[in-house]
Amino acid sequence: MTPHSWQRTKIVCTLGPATDHPGIIEQLIGCGMDVARVNASHGDHADHSRRIERVRQAANALGQPVAILIDLPGPKFRIGDLPDDFRKLAEGEIVRLIAEVSLVKEEGEGAEERNRLLPVRDPELLQALRPGESVFLADGSIELCVRTATAVSVRCEVIIGGIVRSGSGINVPESVLNELVPTDDDRRHLAFAVAHEIEWVGVSFVQSAGDLARVRACLPSGAGAQPLLMAKIEKRHALADLEGIVEASDGVMVARGDLGVETDLAEIPVVQKRIISVANARGRPVVTATQMLESMVEREHPTRAEATDVANAVLDGTDAVMLSAETAIGQFPVAAVRFLARVLTATEKGYSLRMAHDRMRATDMPNSPDKPPSALSFAACQLAARLSARAIIVPAHSMAAVLAIARFRPQAPLVVVAGSIRLYRSLALVRGVSPLLSTASGAGGTGLQACLVQAREWLISQGLAEPDDQVVLVSASGSACEQPDTLRTVRLSRVESLDG
Ligand code: PGA
Ligand code: MN
Repeated sequence: MTPHSWQRTKIVCTLGPATDHPGIIEQLIGCGMDVARVNASHGDHADHSRRIERVRQAANALGQPVAILIDLPGPKFRIGDLPDDFRKLAEGEIVRLIAEVSLVKEEGEGAEERNRLLPVRDPELLQALRPGESVFLADGSIELCVRTATAVSVRCEVIIGGIVRSGSGINVPESVLNELVPTDDDRRHLAFAVAHEIEWVGVSFVQSAGDLARVRACLPSGAGAQPLLMAKIEKRHALADLEGIVEASDGVMVARGDLGVETDLAEIPVVQKRIISVANARGRPVVTATQMLESMVEREHPTRAEATDVANAVLDGTDAVMLSAETAIGQFPVAAVRFLARVLTATEKGYSLRMAHDRMRATDMPNSPDKPPSALSFAACQLAARLSARAIIVPAHSMAAVLAIARFRPQAPLVVVAGSIRLYRSLALVRGVSPLLSTASGAGGTGLQACLVQAREWLISQGLAEPDDQVVLVSASGSACEQPDTLRTVRLSRVESLDG
């Protein structure tokens, strides 16, 4: 029984120069990487293509389902190029934010005035700022306050000083930046995601459900060709319409990096719990991200606080935990994933039974009348729990069919025999799901039977079940293909008689 097969919470690793060394991707998959993340804010399409290709090859060679997630840059404002690539800002100093493109026009000004200029890459930002607003630089470590603002130049006082570098991010938590998602750059990356059949797209700096609708409108309409959209919750204003955003998304990320600058850092633990519980209640997969094992960027061993943070995300109900710099540029990417997997397994072992029960009760038949698929999925989970079934087996063609069951967080492994490679890979992100790629070709009864034989063989090969063990089967009546409204069947069987 491999530890990987027992682990329910999934692992997302950000790719970068540190994962480019030969053999690293294979090692990461071997230690439990389920999703490889490409951050479109860094590197170019040639880098991304090369990295994606390597993940696909390694996953195929190892026979593991691995999804690709590409994060759109979104309207993240950045400081332009600085002379010497950095600038020291002292408390009380006055600086002038100005668009990088209009910098040449200022050549005529005196040396002192030129010294005050701080170029920004995005002119839209200047139009949004109002006197009295705060502007944060360098991950929130530097704070400016807007004193006077015109559409082309914004005068700010430095409240907390520090060193700002070329390309450093700018956060403006108080500004509502309407309809900036998707940016032109985002559209370019979306086309790339479609062309490369990427399963998940992370939509950055979402502020409303409308942002997601506009991104969706950029995608081709052919069924099965669209990537799933993961709403990155990292703006203060996103929290005001959290339910609407989660509903409009296919998945959610607790993007603690920007969220920790855009909102009060002290509230992050509580906000994380709220985002996860809204996502759980609506059956959307959720990823907890940023600084999970930050000290491992430079050190081989994590801190006590980091181990505890990972465990708490599991207890909060996250589907996946994410590594950023730890794997992208860190010195110990493999050790980080290995440690993460150990904490996840240990936490699930200690707490998952109680957690699963709590969750089933918490989502126990919502107040409003429930639709048959949901009620049936709930019944399947209860049946599996009552009889301590070793697995719930589901032949499926859609994400919705799987999430209808996965949202109840069954204790038994949810073995999905996926009808397409895209579904097989996409499911790698979902907690408690073990995706298999269906080898069944025919539809109807034979297809269903082949799916069941495949699940049975896998369960036995993984040491997850023995021939005499009970399993619960959820399938579309008499067929392996479910339609959204198809009546479904829940059956109880023994592993040995699955093909009978
Ligand atoms: P990023 O998103 O790493 O793309 O900024 C995650 C976060 O903000 O936490
Ligand atoms: Mn972010």
